[in-house]
Amino acid sequence: MEDKDHIINHLGEDRHKYYNAVSPPIIQTSNFAAASVEDMRKMFSDEAGSHLYTRGNNPTVEILRKKIAALEHTEDALIFSSGSAAIANAVISQVSQGDHIVCVKNPYSWTVKLLENFLSRFGVTHSYVDGANLEEIKAAFQENTKVLFLESPNTFYYGIQDLSECAAIAKEHGAISMIDNSYCSPIFQNPADHGIDVTIHSGTKYINGHSDVVVGIVCASKKIINQIFHNEYMTLGAIISPFDAALVIRGLRTLPLRMERINNSTIEVFEAIKHHKSIREIYFPFDPDFPQYELAKKQMSGTGGLFTIIFETDDKSALEKMIQRLDLFLIAVSWGGHESLMFPSICLHDIPGKETPPFDWRVIRFSIGLESPKILINNLLAAFDVL
Ligand SMILES: *Cc1c(COP(=O)(O)O)cnc(C)c1O
Repeated sequence: MEDKDHIINHLGEDRHKYYNAVSPPIIQTSNFAAASVEDMRKMFSDEAGSHLYTRGNNPTVEILRKKIAALEHTEDALIFSSGSAAIANAVISQVSQGDHIVCVKNPYSWTVKLLENFLSRFGVTHSYVDGANLEEIKAAFQENTKVLFLESPNTFYYGIQDLSECAAIAKEHGAISMIDNSYCSPIFQNPADHGIDVTIHSGTKYINGHSDVVVGIVCASKKIINQIFHNEYMTLGAIISPFDAALVIRGLRTLPLRMERINNSTIEVFEAIKHHKSIREIYFPFDPDFPQYELAKKQMSGTGGLFTIIFETDDKSALEKMIQRLDLFLIAVSWGGHESLMFPSICLHDIPGKETPPFDWRVIRFSIGLESPKILINNLLAAFDVL
């Protein structure tokens, strides 16, 4: 049996503790009673590892925690109420007033807001760097740089960073390296193997995979996880419920299967549409013409299901007609679920009272789900012909 099969199906599930039930119980409780004074002292001495209070460590959530840590090859993990909370807790844990963060350009939109609108209020500054340029990354470090924040691949244009090189640069400068690893999931990329200190997920995407839970995860050494646990995790209290944890454990059972399907389908769809005349540009990390294709193949053992197209048209209404024709793709934000969907930039244009966004209206990001790739290809090609 492969290691990850054991992790997903058995690790962390002490079934003898709950009637040998195959599926773990949802321990829906806020607190836990101690058997004695001595017992409660023990609970207080290791709140992250014992069961004292559900804002700290709930047994159902703990099963998920153990499984994701093992999948990411880290010592421990913490589960948060969203990917955004996971990113914020991890970053905040490493900085104080006067510190500086180096971050790749154009990260997830709420990572941008964390740096620009939130941490700036507390005297923490940042510099953005081109993640493909190691010299630029090195040059951005200052005396007070505490964090190097990566997102590889990025989830709009799929920019990739060399993880081993970046981890080494951070280490050399005494900074903590962090990555948003949501695109690859733990199945296709394990940043800890490259020396990255903190691996973060929006588990809302592939890890849960069923578009019914919002969840985030931070994976790191025991030392870093303990530090976050006793400060940001317990203070800010952005935990998930035991019920949601049980749903995510259920989602996790099929993660390798879903990722294999999505990898294969997305490559098949990409190859079928790549040369269509309605496409001006297409961005996909496993495209042999992608500028960082070699690095993508070296670091990622498979691809996620996102690709982005800039369409060849000057006619907004034709683009909207094409979108209506794509009836197998839901118009939605997020991604990583069972369903195929698309996020057309044009939805952000022409909103009364809102500024025009910096993205071209011709841009659509697609997310390939678990449907048959053949029917998705037929739908895409027929719709592209509308342009
Ligand atoms: C969705 C997403 C997040 C935020 O996750 P939530 O679970 O929605 O809070 C962070 N990073 C990336 C790359 C994402 O796609």
